[in-house]
Amino acid sequence: MFWADSPLRGQNDAPVGWSLAGVTRAVRDGDDRLTACCLAVLLGVGAALGGLNLFIDGVLQDGAYRVVYAATMLMLLALGGVLAVRQRAGQSEAAVLVVIGDAVYVVVAVTTTDPLLYAPPLMLLFCCVAAAWFLGPRMLTVHMLLVVVACAAALAGSYPDRAALAVQVVVNSAVLDLVTVGIFLLRRRVERLLDHTRALSSTDPLTGLANRRWLVEQAPRLWRQARRDGQRVAALVLDLDHFKRLNDAFGHATGDQVLRVVAEALSATVRPSDVLARTGGEELVVLGLVSDPAEARRLAERLRLAVSTSCAAQSVTASIGVALVRPVGDEDPTDGLWRLVDRADVAMYEAKQGGRDRVSIAAGVSVPRPRDRSVGSS
Ligand code: GH3
Ligand code: MG
Ligand code: MG
Repeated sequence: MFWADSPLRGQNDAPVGWSLAGVTRAVRDGDDRLTACCLAVLLGVGAALGGLNLFIDGVLQDGAYRVVYAATMLMLLALGGVLAVRQRAGQSEAAVLVVIGDAVYVVVAVTTTDPLLYAPPLMLLFCCVAAAWFLGPRMLTVHMLLVVVACAAALAGSYPDRAALAVQVVVNSAVLDLVTVGIFLLRRRVERLLDHTRALSSTDPLTGLANRRWLVEQAPRLWRQARRDGQRVAALVLDLDHFKRLNDAFGHATGDQVLRVVAEALSATVRPSDVLARTGGEELVVLGLVSDPAEARRLAERLRLAVSTSCAAQSVTASIGVALVRPVGDEDPTDGLWRLVDRADVAMYEAKQGGRDRVSIAAGVSVPRPRDRSVGSS
């Protein structure tokens, strides 16, 4: 969703090498719960208020009509109860409930003695608000057509003259549908603003990469996945070498451009499931799942190479520290994340001391050393 059309992407054409699938899923789960609660309240309130008519003389037609009306109110109450217990309603459930709501309005209009008095089309506003807030464009259009049909069915008995009936149906359904469209547009605007805000709060404005906040948000997912699949979480801390010198020699604007180019190269090199974030000035962190230290080293080497070949105009290199952990027990993922990053940070400084432009693996993990001279060790 908002990942693809993030405003930051357009601004500096920066790479966004991270996926918001996790956040999207979390938001969708929250939306489903909110939808269920709202619809349950609407159904409960509608049934309770509608039920009062059973105790007021002269509102309902006698005989079978009264039974149908009572059964309809009970059904609404039951549906509300089911939703309240289930606490989950997606688009399709919301669509079914809105259509049921439209049909219930017709039942109410037909079973009352005077629909103009006891079941005016304004009652459809409940359904219209629910539809505009919860449905997609296609189901919303279906609902808007049903509003016309419902108005016609409800008002037919009250206007024997066809022309008068047509005018009333058009006026009432047009007002309801216009309100529906207005609320729908408002909702779209609110959603876009929320998406924009979420993107801003998780994105580094200079490079378009994820930021520290996003890294922390991803920790629980990675820790859960590692526990489930018996894998290790690897943290790779990258620090560009002698970046101050580059700034001093070419100016900050060039430094910024180099950071963007490096970010782009790293985005293209990490695996789709890895999390790449800019955590500080010229420091970046990659989090990913690996099955063994050798896999983490291979990834680190690929990233080191990507940095050193990213800029044609300037020579840029990075020192990379790698640390791994196999999550066990119920360790808090955020605590675990920072402990892991701290170890990778220490390893990164060892890479600096070892001569820069190299990879260093944190103590506690043994990895076969490659023969290549450029690969450092701790
Ligand atoms: P080392 O190899 O030891 O890491 O040397 P270094 O010069 O990279 O390290 P140091 O921490 O001394 O300097 C980091 C520099 O990165 C300092 C600062 O000018 C530069 N820097 C930090 N953030 C930005 C930024 O957003 N844009 C630019 N252009 N420079 C930045
Ligand atoms: Mg630094
Ligand atoms: Mg540096």
